[in-house]
Amino acid sequence: MCKGKVGALKLLKVILLFCVMILSISSNVSAASKNRYYYEKQGTAIWEVPVKEKVVAITFDDGPNDLYTPQVLDLLKKYNAKATFFLIGERVTRYPEVALREIEEGHEVANHTFSHARLQYLSDEQIRNQLERTHEAIINATHVEPVLFRPPFGYYSERSINAVHELGYLTVMWSWHQDTFDWSNPGVYKIVSNVLKDTRKGDIVLFHDHGGDRTQTIDALKQILPALQKQGYQFVTVSQLLELKAGVKLPKF
Ligand code: ZN
Repeated sequence: MCKGKVGALKLLKVILLFCVMILSISSNVSAASKNRYYYEKQGTAIWEVPVKEKVVAITFDDGPNDLYTPQVLDLLKKYNAKATFFLIGERVTRYPEVALREIEEGHEVANHTFSHARLQYLSDEQIRNQLERTHEAIINATHVEPVLFRPPFGYYSERSINAVHELGYLTVMWSWHQDTFDWSNPGVYKIVSNVLKDTRKGDIVLFHDHGGDRTQTIDALKQILPALQKQGYQFVTVSQLLELKAGVKLPKF
């Protein structure tokens, strides 16, 4: 009788262990499935926006910068290119006139936190605070309400994407094959060839207009913009790219 009880307990333990294993496997599966494709399907984040039209969205992070951003803007104007600037709120309060010029010249301004914060170390409340302060700074400088957000260092999690989404923002990453690593000053040739070797319709290209000497970024743009234009590409903002996907016809630039 006693032996039977021990046997039954053992069996119960084995069953419990089995249940825990199944649970942990299934939770791993659900965590693994919450990758890029999960969020793209959910509509809370994008990495690129494949479209039929020959367009790309070039984006600049970490500005405004009083020295390099005006040079970028001059180049964009020369090639009739529109771009998206993911701005740091604290820098917008310092250089509101540069952010305003971005809007006046037809570009899109977007949110990149107030102090280039690492979201993984912030509470939901602190994430909201970072975005709201930047939102306010951008509106004060440009009178335009931003709707796009890019997390510093490309960090995202389900928690951060949801916190951002709850504020009405879409998280915008960049095409995996279009990370120029320009922030590390890899050389103009590397930046140029990275973009040109595999340009696809609807790509989102990552550049930086702040964070050290950005001369290589500027010099690379001097080659990338005319080269892609020659191939028939137009340069649109991320919101214009999303409109194209939704079937809205863009005005001719
Ligand atoms: Zn950044």
